[in-house]
Amino acid sequence: MVILGAGESGAGAAVLARVKGWDAFVSDQGAIKPKYKELLDRYGIAWEEGHHSEELILNADEVVKSPGIPDDAPLVMKLKERGIPVISEIEFAGRYTQAKMVCITGSNGKTTTTSLIYHIFRSAGLNVGLAGNIGRSLALQVATEQHDYYVIELSSFQLDNMYSFRANIAVLMNITPDHLDRYDHRMQNYVDAKFRITQNQTSEDAFVYWNDDPIIRRELERHGLKARLYPFAAVKEDGAIAYAEEGEVVICEPIAFNMEQEELALRGTHNLYNSLAAGISAKLAGIDKENIRKALANFKGVEHRLEEVCSVGGVRFVNDSKATNVNSCWYALQSMTTPTVLILGGKDKGNDYDEITDLVATKCKALVYLGLHNEKLHAAFDHLGLPVVEVNSGMKEAVEAAWHLASKGDTVLLSPCCASFDLFRSYEDRGEQFKECVKAL
Ligand code: ADP
Repeated sequence: MVILGAGESGAGAAVLARVKGWDAFVSDQGAIKPKYKELLDRYGIAWEEGHHSEELILNADEVVKSPGIPDDAPLVMKLKERGIPVISEIEFAGRYTQAKMVCITGSNGKTTTTSLIYHIFRSAGLNVGLAGNIGRSLALQVATEQHDYYVIELSSFQLDNMYSFRANIAVLMNITPDHLDRYDHRMQNYVDAKFRITQNQTSEDAFVYWNDDPIIRRELERHGLKARLYPFAAVKEDGAIAYAEEGEVVICEPIAFNMEQEELALRGTHNLYNSLAAGISAKLAGIDKENIRKALANFKGVEHRLEEVCSVGGVRFVNDSKATNVNSCWYALQSMTTPTVLILGGKDKGNDYDEITDLVATKCKALVYLGLHNEKLHAAFDHLGLPVVEVNSGMKEAVEAAWHLASKGDTVLLSPCCASFDLFRSYEDRGEQFKECVKAL
């Protein structure tokens, strides 16, 4: 078994391979972090870094590929030409556990919903592991721990290399354009990747999804799923089994549940979806009403997702650095209740800003473009006539510019629509810097 990429998922897959009696070899083109080297050494697993030894790798029976390595990487192409199966870490781990799998995907809301489901399950006393994009490697947990449930966040890249894996509860939050640069700029390729979450589901399994997503609806007609369907929506409507009605959150199936919407810890329409998806999943796992209510009410939220930083001189600062695509910025803007100075920009992944133009016009009083290349932002928003400041240098200038543009009672929102890699190491780095600069005002 060759494992390409020795990050959290690769190192975990290597340990599982070793524990299950495979001859495992790990290869990473970059540098391997010391903690993963120690882990591999502890299990006596051979590894290399800084290059790929092709002759060894092409000799594999099977390959686990890190989701960060694209399918068209030359080495991956060669493996495919030779007919060597290339799978994901989740696919591999799925072979070795009988635990129930609760899997969450979507373009937006994955981490929030995954964290919320995990929080409810744990609070209710279930023996549950948190895995996937968020948290620790599934394979490592399967190798070294015993859980009855896993709550797993799945990106489209992980789903790409999944074939036999079966989700007992599959949650699909939404499908909007994202990562198209990795899918030949063809939306259908990305849609197909997301729908792989339903493959291998049987009539014993559940598919939880947003009822109003036009793409999900279209695909449902095409796929004819075997799983039981649990569609949710913001309001009571045809087909939806969970929604909000007259200030109450209502779930009708599999067992009736209700609570005051006011009591939900997470605010905004997008978070209502996340709470509904989590509530349905918890009901499906047999958790009782009282535990679900309590956990939906006391959830602490996730960093960098509409995170309240603080108020400075009556101006509220909100860190939504995780909004790395246009749709998540749409939801962030939609939840704003005061005039907003929006900081946006970064590395564009093929964005179409038309989706948020109307909201920017109604919710924003000024814009700060923060990125090395802001031409597309100028073209999309300058015609609205709002005050615009362009910043190419970094977060400090962006926060100061936004602060000058804002008045008492306004909100400064960092919700960039873009990846962070032009000026920052990651979205976390961008969010941390935002918070530090705000606190230094
Ligand atoms: P993901 O893990 O899919 O990237 P997150 O839970 O980290 O999603 O949320 C990322 C951003 O997407 C948040 O900052 C928020 O603005 C937006 N968002 C969260 N949930 C949803 C949802 N259900 N639908 C649309 N946008 C959402």
